[in-house]
Amino acid sequence: MCVDLRLLIIALALASAIFAMVNGFHASYKVQRQQLIDNTLESNHAYATKLAASTENFIHSAVQQLQYSAARLANRFADDALLFDESERIRLQTDSFNSVAVVDGQGIVRATSPNSLALVGRQLDSPGAVAALRERRPLISQPYVSAAGNLIVFISTPVFDAAGQYLGYVGGSIYLKQKSILNSLLGEHYYRDGSYLYVVDDQRRLLYHQEGDRVGTQVGANPVIDAVLRRESGQMRLHNSQGVDMLAGYAIVPSTGWGVVAQRPTLATLAALDVLMENVVLNTLPLAVIIVLFIWVFARLISRPLRQLAEGARGIDRPDSAVQIQRIRSWYFESSELKRALLIGIGLINRNISKLRQDAQVDPLTGLNNRRGMEMALSAWKAERQPFAIVALDIDHFKNVNDTYGHDVGDEVLKLLAGIMRANSREGDVLCRMGGEEFVVLLPGAELDIARQVAERLRRGVEQAAMEPVGHITVSLGVARWPEHGGDVGQALKVADEMLYEAKRSGRNRVVAAQGTADRKADSVDTIGS
Ligand code: GH3
Ligand code: MG
Ligand code: MG
Repeated sequence: MCVDLRLLIIALALASAIFAMVNGFHASYKVQRQQLIDNTLESNHAYATKLAASTENFIHSAVQQLQYSAARLANRFADDALLFDESERIRLQTDSFNSVAVVDGQGIVRATSPNSLALVGRQLDSPGAVAALRERRPLISQPYVSAAGNLIVFISTPVFDAAGQYLGYVGGSIYLKQKSILNSLLGEHYYRDGSYLYVVDDQRRLLYHQEGDRVGTQVGANPVIDAVLRRESGQMRLHNSQGVDMLAGYAIVPSTGWGVVAQRPTLATLAALDVLMENVVLNTLPLAVIIVLFIWVFARLISRPLRQLAEGARGIDRPDSAVQIQRIRSWYFESSELKRALLIGIGLINRNISKLRQDAQVDPLTGLNNRRGMEMALSAWKAERQPFAIVALDIDHFKNVNDTYGHDVGDEVLKLLAGIMRANSREGDVLCRMGGEEFVVLLPGAELDIARQVAERLRRGVEQAAMEPVGHITVSLGVARWPEHGGDVGQALKVADEMLYEAKRSGRNRVVAAQGTADRKADSVDTIGS
């Protein structure tokens, strides 16, 4: 069982269409995936950068507030009421600080806000306070846990009098785990799409995290924090300390060295890709259906002429095969060439067959009908009930010609005789060589008398013809008619033969015609000639 061309074309075209589509989907998947990752990295970086800048601004303005107060207190540092007022104002005017303290040059607290802290008159020993006293310059402390258990960043500014004498410092605490501007600045920006933000100091300690419990804890090995510790700003894909695949952007707060990291799980980012790809597939579907239909129709169009030609070739022996093939619409080059070749082939076959058929009915020496050719004509006439006259002819003493001049000359004589027979016949007459030097002429529709006259004319024509080197020959002829001389055609031929032998017997070179019916054959023999 052979696969047909249409299936082959459909299979090939579908395979390449599917391959192209899958390839397209794959390429689009890869590009969009990379795009999503790049976009997320980019926006996380931008976001981290913006928050780092905002945090920097906040710290900068906090320091400015303290510096302003330090300038105000410089000339009236002894005025406790003023120190108290100023620390209240700093704490309450903005949400920058959770608590404020004014400390003198010996480290003794002079005023606090809120006042309830009950620290006035005591020495502060927190790391921020110790550093402020020692350094005598504006400071932002490392985060530390206070005596009250708060995680604190302490910002301080020294107070000098007009003579440049160090008087003490003004400092504000930010409680990282409680409400403050810093906290709300960072905390506001928490997205529901899985992205989140954290801030670390240069000790890997979390200063801000969406899970409040983690604030103050140290973060384990993590490439982003490593980069932040190198004070770099940028973006990267990484596995965080919990092993989650993350897309992170990070930036530095310059004045503190804190790192702000905005990140989003890669999985959450790529979740959008499924929807995206679904849309791509859905949008491609109508076109895909159209392509499949197109392939199907086109495969039919291409394969049809070839299929029809193949069927035509299979039935090449049917008589109407040429007509069938002629009807095939072969609309492209190969099919039309095949069609042309098939038609040429059928034409050749038909011509050869008819030539063979003709050859089989013709005597090669004289070109007259042979016995088979004669039988064809007779059976047609018999079927049509077409009456005809028969003239049987035999050369007289032909043996002598052969003996004297040779067989080749004898053959030439036979050809010349055939020529004379042709010259004496009409269209429709059937001239036959029955074998050797015996011939028959069939005259359709001719009456006996007419046939006798034709025979006589032929006899005379032969007698008068010069045949070099033989000179002259003569022939004897017998005439009969069908159906008068036998209902059976063979019977009528036999009568003509009998008449021929009658002519031989009665001296040759003459015509003998049968009379009336077969019963009365040769009753009255009409002889003409010598
Ligand atoms: P007749 O008919 O007058 O009685 O004498 P005949 O010599 O013609 O006798 P017959 O008809 O019996 O002779 C037939 C001769 O015709 C024998 C043979 O030599 C010759 N013949 C038969 N066929 C051919 C042929 O194809 N070519 C040639 N050259 N001669 C042939
Ligand atoms: Mg003979
Ligand atoms: Mg003879």
